[in-house]
Amino acid sequence: MSKLDNERANNLKSSLLPDPEMGEPFLLTPGPLTTSFAVKQAMLRDWGSWDGDFRAMTADMRRRLLALLGAEQGAFECIPMQGSGSYLVEAMLGNMVPKDGKLLVLANGAYGLRAAKTMEAIGRAYHLLDKGDYLPPRGAEVADILANDPAITHVLAIHCETSSGILNPIAEISQVTYAAGRKLLVDSMSAFGAVPMEPDQIRYEALVSSANKCIEGVPGFGFALVRRSELIATKGNCHSLSLDLHAQWENLEKSGQWRFTPPTHVVAAFLEALKAHEAEGGVAVRGARYTSNRDVMVAGMRELGFETLLDARWLSPIIVTFFCPADERFVFDRFYELMKDKGFIIYPGKLTVVESFRIGCIGQMDEAIMRRVVAAAKQSLEELGVTSAAPPQAAFEERKKLNA
Ligand SMILES: *Cc1c(COP(=O)(O)O)cnc(C)c1O
Repeated sequence: MSKLDNERANNLKSSLLPDPEMGEPFLLTPGPLTTSFAVKQAMLRDWGSWDGDFRAMTADMRRRLLALLGAEQGAFECIPMQGSGSYLVEAMLGNMVPKDGKLLVLANGAYGLRAAKTMEAIGRAYHLLDKGDYLPPRGAEVADILANDPAITHVLAIHCETSSGILNPIAEISQVTYAAGRKLLVDSMSAFGAVPMEPDQIRYEALVSSANKCIEGVPGFGFALVRRSELIATKGNCHSLSLDLHAQWENLEKSGQWRFTPPTHVVAAFLEALKAHEAEGGVAVRGARYTSNRDVMVAGMRELGFETLLDARWLSPIIVTFFCPADERFVFDRFYELMKDKGFIIYPGKLTVVESFRIGCIGQMDEAIMRRVVAAAKQSLEELGVTSAAPPQAAFEERKKLNA
């Protein structure tokens, strides 16, 4: 084991993980997720939002997020914003897409479709490319759409589409977007902090993420990382008073304060989570831990007969979707309760066509815990009397055909 591996193992051990005996299950969900004791403990104190101590915490957090992003000094700005991740997506779209602009929304799941709905709600033009549940938007088709519609000014890509767990090919999408003279915006909600997104490697103008995903904080706010030159040009562009990123940024720069009441305890917890992220070894090491969580869990589930919704090459290290077994003794709600009894909260599916469920790989968990997840799944199947976890043949064949 390397020094970092050692430290990480010790960090995980000393984090006082949830104890199913005490009634706190592990959250195998893509945020809120299982946080460390230190993160929870950081919330046991009150902070004045205008006070110098809290303003210093906000500044420290913004500085750490920019360092984590890995952009050239001064090229990007970090703007935290109250609310859940969807508020940040709406803030990014409302700020970055001009009133007379047009957005190409690349969707392959619920979050892409929600972004299109957001454009509808804020009354800005968009074109939707909907790839369904299994497949990523590819560079060639994006290039085609851009060539045929000169009105499109921006492209929105979902980095990891959390509804299926697909990791979309952002580099390829970025390349064709800029080759066509357009600009890329990224919803990196469930990937930022675990999948590299250095703007020098992959060009884009803004990305958004939130406190309760791969940085392993608790829910309550999100943040936008925006190219400074673009941000300056967005003044007065936002459809909303409270979601105005430019106004929030101006206020932060002027007074060090958030414009409206910040979630002080959540920020304190997030700072602790950022320190742990750095101590663990940053984006690469966190990504590697999630990847081995996924590999151990998927291998174990396959041994039980389960199949992943996605072809192996598109599986993200964030969350994995499995087909519900064809065996009619498998009832998801009962499986869920049996897993919960054993200390594991899994996630229902979010697909339109087939029955599925999801298991997340992010949060304060390692391989040893993922092996316990698989053992719990095995036991739960036995308790249900399910002898094979194989998926419905037709749905599985359909997926194979689409990926061929
Ligand atoms: C979590 C997530 C969001 C935001 O969802 P909220 O429920 O508003 O936090 C947006 N996009 C993606 C890809 C996500 O994973």
